[in-house]
Amino acid sequence: MNENRHKLFIISSPSGGGKTSLIKSLFKDPRANSLWMSISHTTRQKRKGDLEGKDYFFIDEKVFKKKIDKGDFLEYAKVFENYYGTDKSLINSKLNSHNVFLEIDWQGAKNIKKIFPDSLSIFLLPPSYEDLKYRLIKRGLDSEESIIIRLAEAKLEISKSLDSDYLVLNDDFARALEELKTIIFQRENPDIFKSRVSSELIDNLLA
Ligand code: 5GP
Repeated sequence: MNENRHKLFIISSPSGGGKTSLIKSLFKDPRANSLWMSISHTTRQKRKGDLEGKDYFFIDEKVFKKKIDKGDFLEYAKVFENYYGTDKSLINSKLNSHNVFLEIDWQGAKNIKKIFPDSLSIFLLPPSYEDLKYRLIKRGLDSEESIIIRLAEAKLEISKSLDSDYLVLNDDFARALEELKTIIFQRENPDIFKSRVSSELIDNLLA
C-alpha cells in the first residue's frame, strides 16, 4: 500500500459471530471518525431492517456479473449461494482520506491481502459452536434452511481463521470491543490477542 494512504482493516467471522453489534459500537467511539465502513454489493435478498446504500447495494445477478466483467470489484466471492463484492473505485478513493474497514468473508480477506499486503485482518471467533447456533436462531433474520447453510459454512470459515493477523474471541461483548478498539486505534501486537485463543478452542469449534 502507498505510504501516504490510509490503513485497510478487514473483519471476518462466521455468520452469527456477533460482528454487526461490535462494529456498531466500535463506530460510536470518537476516534472512529477517521474510519470509513465499506458498503458491499450483493445479490442476496434484502432482510428485515436492511437499508439500500447503507447495509449493502442490492443488485441482481445479471448486474453483478456485468460489474465483474467490467473489473469493478476489488474482490468478490460467492457466500451462501449469493454474490458479494467490494467496489474498487470506492475503496481506492476513500483510502485517500480515511482508514477503511471491510466486513467480508475469508475468501475476500485472502484476496484483499494479496492486493494490500499491509492491510490488517481480524477474525472474530465465537466461544462455541452452540453459541453461534443460538445467536443465528435468536436474531430471527434467516430461514431454517439459511441457518443450516450458515452453520455448515462456519466450520470452513473458522478453519481459515488462523491466517488472520488478529484473532478476537467474542466470549464477552465489552472485552471483545475493547480488543477491537486496541487493534484499530492503537495497533497492538497481534500476539496479545492470539494468546486468548487456545488450539483447544479451535479444535472444539471444528469438531
Ligand atoms: P450477510 O448476508 O449475513 O450480510 O453476509 C454474509 C457473508 O458475506 C458475511 O460473512 C460477510 O462478511 C460476507 N460479505 C459481505 N460483503 C462481502 C464482500 O464484499 N465480499 C466478500 N468476499 N464477502 C462479503
